[in-house]
Amino acid sequence: GIHAAQASPARTKSTRLFRRAVPVFPGGVTRATVEKDPIPFYVAYGEGAYLVDVDGNRLLDLNNNFTTLIHGHGFEPVRQAASDLMRTGTCFANPTQHEIGLAELLVDRIPAIEQVRFVNSGTEAVMFAIKAARAFTGRPGIVRVEGAYHGAYDWAEAGQAVASNPDDRAAISRAIPAYHGTPASVADDVHLIRFNDVDGLEQRLHALRDRVACLLIDPMPSRAGLLHPNATFIEALSSAARKHGILIIADEVLNLRQGYAGASPRYGLTPDLVTAGKIIGGGFPIGAIGGREEIMRVFGTQVNKPLLLQGGTFSANPVSMVAGRVAMEAMTHDSFNHLEALGERLRDGLRSSISRVDAPFSVTGAASLFRIHPKTNAPTEFREALLSDAEGLVMRGLARHFLQCGILLPHGAAASLSTPMTNSDIDLILAAFDDFLSVHAA
Ligand code: PLP
Repeated sequence: GIHAAQASPARTKSTRLFRRAVPVFPGGVTRATVEKDPIPFYVAYGEGAYLVDVDGNRLLDLNNNFTTLIHGHGFEPVRQAASDLMRTGTCFANPTQHEIGLAELLVDRIPAIEQVRFVNSGTEAVMFAIKAARAFTGRPGIVRVEGAYHGAYDWAEAGQAVASNPDDRAAISRAIPAYHGTPASVADDVHLIRFNDVDGLEQRLHALRDRVACLLIDPMPSRAGLLHPNATFIEALSSAARKHGILIIADEVLNLRQGYAGASPRYGLTPDLVTAGKIIGGGFPIGAIGGREEIMRVFGTQVNKPLLLQGGTFSANPVSMVAGRVAMEAMTHDSFNHLEALGERLRDGLRSSISRVDAPFSVTGAASLFRIHPKTNAPTEFREALLSDAEGLVMRGLARHFLQCGILLPHGAAASLSTPMTNSDIDLILAAFDDFLSVHAA
């Protein structure tokens, strides 16, 4: 077994690097989402399911760059294809054949996608999907789920962290910009619903019908709790949106990794537009907006001037296109089945460990994704997933314990598996969790 008394990983070189970073970066990092406890681990290199930091610590990577690296690190076919491509140049204002290849793959696999536009991030994909919905419907508003994360576009961000006071029921009707820097006027066109709340959804869509262009929905919102969608909620939102002419945008930037055809078909959702990112770039920057031809036409230039201008200096750069195509081609049905089986084994194992000692924890997730909650009942919406200060400390303790066991567990976000992982990696995670519970429950 693994002992909780095991020494913490060394951080001498990371500490030295962080000291250099502090004067040149606000907060010492370039992304607010980098996990620091109290400093980040600086990576030396990644290797399959593992990464090795500058102090030589080898960690099973359950972050996978925020779920991006579905093949883990240094996947050979991507490395080969990307380095071959780089010999021919890395970006051109002219199109290359490579963008067609990745577009064809997405159109073939994902039922809701008839046409595509590529951008450089999930944030941009969500931004352009919202703009497309506005251009198509001529309406300004968006409806989104409280607590869900959709990137940093102002209208997608407002409402992300509204319920810092879960008792503030009034806050639900109107989004509030989550961060300073976003003007309050943004909230005029952002309306919130709660995940799995059928009545609330129907009332809001009815009240707002003429002002709303789209319903932005992540079928399994990760930051809000990696929440499982109830079938009745998906049915209700689909029929209410159809009834009022509101477009459904499925934000699958993260959850596309749930299956060969993405996440929506798995949950009975038929979106008008889909946003993608992360895994479809093979580890390079990417975002994509896809959807029905009739709607995607707002981006087109052939017949009339485009209703909506979408460019981007690095959009559809051939490195991302080739890497993405190769990574996605390797995601065969077998690869998805492998991840599904590993995920089942892991979630089942975690749940039986919890019930064996009757610990106040629960597990959510599907396919290659999971999240552990310090709550007896698995949350069904954002407010149930919110942590008290004490629960936050428990999760911090869990992440620290996992580090001591050589596992990098993201907290407050979805953890993910990658194709190079095997049953023995799953068993390592389960052993670390059992060990934590035996100390925590004692
Ligand atoms: N939408 C969802 C559902 C996401 O999970 C994320 C990123 O985590 C984004 C959008 C933003 O993507 P990016 O970080 O590539 O801008």
